[in-house]
Amino acid sequence: MEISDWKKLPFGYKKTNYNVRCYYRNGEWGALELSSSEYVPIHIAATSLHYGQEAFEGMKAYMGKDGKIRVFRWQDNAARLKSSAEGIRMAVVPESLFRDAVFTAIRMNREFIPPHGSGASLYIRPLLIGTGPEVGVKPSGEYLFMVFVTPVGPYFKEGMKPVEMMICRDCDRAAPLGTGNIKVGGNYAASLRAIEAAHQAGYSNVVFLDAREKKYIDECGPANFFGIRENTYITPDSPSILPSITNKSLIRIAEDMGLKTERRKVPVEELELFEEAGACGTAAVISPIKKIADPVMNREYVIGDGNPGKITLRLYEKLTGIQTGDEPDPYGWIEFVE
Ligand SMILES: *Cc1c(COP(=O)(O)O)cnc(C)c1O
Repeated sequence: MEISDWKKLPFGYKKTNYNVRCYYRNGEWGALELSSSEYVPIHIAATSLHYGQEAFEGMKAYMGKDGKIRVFRWQDNAARLKSSAEGIRMAVVPESLFRDAVFTAIRMNREFIPPHGSGASLYIRPLLIGTGPEVGVKPSGEYLFMVFVTPVGPYFKEGMKPVEMMICRDCDRAAPLGTGNIKVGGNYAASLRAIEAAHQAGYSNVVFLDAREKKYIDECGPANFFGIRENTYITPDSPSILPSITNKSLIRIAEDMGLKTERRKVPVEELELFEEAGACGTAAVISPIKKIADPVMNREYVIGDGNPGKITLRLYEKLTGIQTGDEPDPYGWIEFVE
């Protein structure tokens, strides 16, 4: 494909050559297997189908100008999948198996890695599911760990475009002592009603508040929230937020750019004071936010002048520069795929 075609690629699923699979049975992981099938034969009583024993990760690989394939902070994804597995009582995928599976999936699908400069990348989706048959509620004795990859186009086709979001007051994504801090499919199912309501009202996504008091910002759909004011990068602290690796990376970059950083409760009314705001995650890296509506309270928070903020842009350029190899990587976040 030409670079111009890669640029037009949607952010969606496209078939590749292979995916990798590994089965956990009798208390141990088997050998990594290659598959060219897009389907998974599964027992009708598998715990993933009935009781939501499913966790996943989302990562990206990039082609550098030097022709080297780069994977970003995969150890953090491996650690998060471990904590997700423990959180819903699934077998833990060892770090070495995680690495092997991810790197093999990339190597076996080299031709699908979009070229440098296209803005497109290879999205990597590791997932872990309970496959053992149970009817009573208990953890499965068998698991399947899989990794598939799919090339995805740039999230913003015509440059970063600030979005408008809506606070949802009649729905929660996750409870304070629930599963919000782990990356499990159930959280996504729980968020669909709110996302649909936001779309129907003309907003690009939903802002979830803390479930207990409905006073503080939790997350923006499937992304973390950050705001900038008085040269400070501020991101919410809450037990029901998924710890975003993008957010953690932006905090580090912000510090090294001379910004102050704070991870603390962010009251909804503080939105009025932010000079810039954004949602961050692997998919878009940063989606700048220009407005957040709170229809139930009859309020609207306008952030910035409708263009991406200066600091937001600098953070975005720096992080994507490290990911694509256009900027040096002083943090050791990149590993090359040989
Ligand atoms: C995956 C995810 C994020 C983003 O995490 P990254 O590691 O930055 O991709 C944020 N919030 C939720 C709920 C998520 O599932």
